[in-house]
Amino acid sequence: MQINYWMPTKILMDRQVVLKNKDEFAKYGMRALIVTGKNSAKVTGALGDVESVLKEKGMGCEIFDQIEQNPCIETIEKAGIIGRKMKADFVIGIGGGSPLDAAKAIGVMIKHEELTAKTLFTDKKLQSIPILAVPTTAGTGSETTPYSILTDHEAKTKRNLGQTVFCSAAFLDAAYTEFMPMDVTVHTALDTMTHLVESYLNTNSTTFSDLLVKEGLALWGECLQQLLSGSYTYAMREKLLLSSSIAGMAIAQTGTSLPHGMGYPLTYYKNVPHGLANAVLFKAYLRRFKDKKRIEEIFSLLGFDGQRAFEEMLSKLVSLSISATKGELEVWSQEMCSNTAKLKNHPEPITYKGILEIYMKSLI
Ligand code: NAP
Ligand code: ZN
Repeated sequence: MQINYWMPTKILMDRQVVLKNKDEFAKYGMRALIVTGKNSAKVTGALGDVESVLKEKGMGCEIFDQIEQNPCIETIEKAGIIGRKMKADFVIGIGGGSPLDAAKAIGVMIKHEELTAKTLFTDKKLQSIPILAVPTTAGTGSETTPYSILTDHEAKTKRNLGQTVFCSAAFLDAAYTEFMPMDVTVHTALDTMTHLVESYLNTNSTTFSDLLVKEGLALWGECLQQLLSGSYTYAMREKLLLSSSIAGMAIAQTGTSLPHGMGYPLTYYKNVPHGLANAVLFKAYLRRFKDKKRIEEIFSLLGFDGQRAFEEMLSKLVSLSISATKGELEVWSQEMCSNTAKLKNHPEPITYKGILEIYMKSLI
């Protein structure tokens, strides 16, 4: 057996976790670049909490609040230039997966002054200045993964930066996620579920990643009734946030696989939110899977007595009406066939025809 487990992120979870851990922010230098989306960091109070901590500690900061959903490399470059000018010692990402992923890539840009948007994707091994993460969604687990998923308009897709950038610390406070509207809550929760399942049905799964998946699925399953009814409690928010970070730890070891690779064109071309894009493919993806024992284990961990009950849950949570032509699905299937990084994580043989079939059954 070969295992190589590494997860260097310090995870702090509590009510008011930012305000209760002021010293943690002072460990990484005196100047922080804060990276957020346009609104949620402000309305959740997360940005205000971080600013007050930095002020109390006599630290300087600048705020870049222009991170869009599925951030593109041009935005990363803009923020990187600001971070270099202010000589940022570290970056604080506040928000959903988009600002957190952006923070990691911006950290790399600041560390390597020669990099531009055009040269950001490279085979060279690059480092980042320290990154702190304050998630306000419960779904991507970006705070515990080394990945940074960016939109590359030239390649017309989303791509992983390809560097290993773990956050130095993650500050989990479910209160920040209470502001999420119902659709964002459901889509991000679905993202977590897909991370857990894709990690379990993965070429790279190990005893450690499986342990994480099992706990993550059990927690996620405990939230299901509330996710379905739409009446959310703080306790549910906390479980979803924890499940999301645990799922991040699992995919940090294994990577994601087919649904994530196949979901990227849905997001890029049809503007489908990330979690929904993966989940809409899930019924057809799981039906193709031959290792039924592993799949049954997943259903049971989630509290279902079989595939039919799981699919009924998906039908209730996943609602998508987009128009995609067979021609588009053929092009996306070709693209998926050349995505060797994701394909190698899928533990069973799959052909172009199989991929096209998943798209067809899910979308047409
Ligand atoms: P997101 O793109 O970060 O945010 C989606 C929307 O939700 C934005 O409008 C955002 O507003 C809003 N929002 C965020 N927190 C909120 C809150 N507490 N209350 C109300 N609204 C809130 O969504 P996400 O699903 O968390 O992240 C998706 C991105 O993460 C994708 O780019 C995906 O590829 C990436 N991802 C990364 C990993 C990884 O391992 N690194 C894993 C999975 C997915 P603002 O714009 O105002 O902030
Ligand atoms: Zn995801």
